[in-house]
Amino acid sequence: MKALLLRRAGDLRLVETAVPEPREGEVLVRVAQCALCRTDAKMWRRGHRDLRLPRVLGHEVCGIPEGESGRCVVWPGTACGQCDACASGRENLCGAMRIMGFHRDGGLAEFAAVPESSLVPVPATLDGRIAALAEPLACTLNAMDRVALAPGERVLIMGGGPVGLLMGLAVLALESHPFVVEPDPSKLQKSRMFRDHTGMDASESPMGAPWDVVVNAAPQAATLLEGVPRIRTGGRFCLFSGFTGSEMIPVSWLNELHYREIQVSGAYGCTRQQMRRALSILDAHREDVEWLIEDTVTLDKVPDALSRIWEGRVLKVVVQF
Ligand SMILES: [Zn+2]
Ligand SMILES: [Zn+2]
Repeated sequence: MKALLLRRAGDLRLVETAVPEPREGEVLVRVAQCALCRTDAKMWRRGHRDLRLPRVLGHEVCGIPEGESGRCVVWPGTACGQCDACASGRENLCGAMRIMGFHRDGGLAEFAAVPESSLVPVPATLDGRIAALAEPLACTLNAMDRVALAPGERVLIMGGGPVGLLMGLAVLALESHPFVVEPDPSKLQKSRMFRDHTGMDASESPMGAPWDVVVNAAPQAATLLEGVPRIRTGGRFCLFSGFTGSEMIPVSWLNELHYREIQVSGAYGCTRQQMRRALSILDAHREDVEWLIEDTVTLDKVPDALSRIWEGRVLKVVVQF
């Protein structure tokens, strides 16, 4: 089969390789679509804490399990089902976690071997290119679960790339009010049709404080420094995108969390249940979400697409097999 193999940071190439042999409890999936995201581009350029090389990337996968006719998306995690995290419904935090496209081979190949328990059926009405966005949307639902978003609350989303926009969709689906901040006017322009269709407000700088919740969908620590003062007293900050860089956060500034009882929650990954919810949101908004998919490419065009993603020049790109 054809696969796109990352041998080491910077060295991504199309190879001919054996079809993976499913292990016990696994099933072979013929990949139909695999969406690309900034994390893939980051792993290619810089590596990632959870990346084990060499690796077939790809963790936003829609495909057909062998011997079946219906399509599924793949929850990229694996969980033991026994530990405290699993028992409390937070399987994304399982201590035995091995993520598809990070620790084990992912969906940028014609076939992938995945745990049968990770398959989530796709509604018949939903295009596979859109279904492939279930994973990133589910991660944003996890973020909103972490801050226990209530209907009617106002959420400031810092970062207007594909993930910030999917976060906005999650907030709308939870009957709350998103506002997307994106300092780059060309990115705002790119997302205009999606935002118009969903009725999502946005601007180049934050407006209209105070907010019930602020969430970062961009890796700059400035999102924390600029976001927290805009949270209402007793409100919440969700640290969704891991920070890059080495900026120091002043202790005097951190005291604002103390005096105003601001809660800070991390969010990383998603659960199978959140992927089921994401699929039904995507199905309800399938025409709006088309505006997020800027390009559909073949496997050999992925390096070029990842360059564009890394430079922030494109919204969502989906690989079609
Ligand atoms: Zn992703
Ligand atoms: Zn576990």
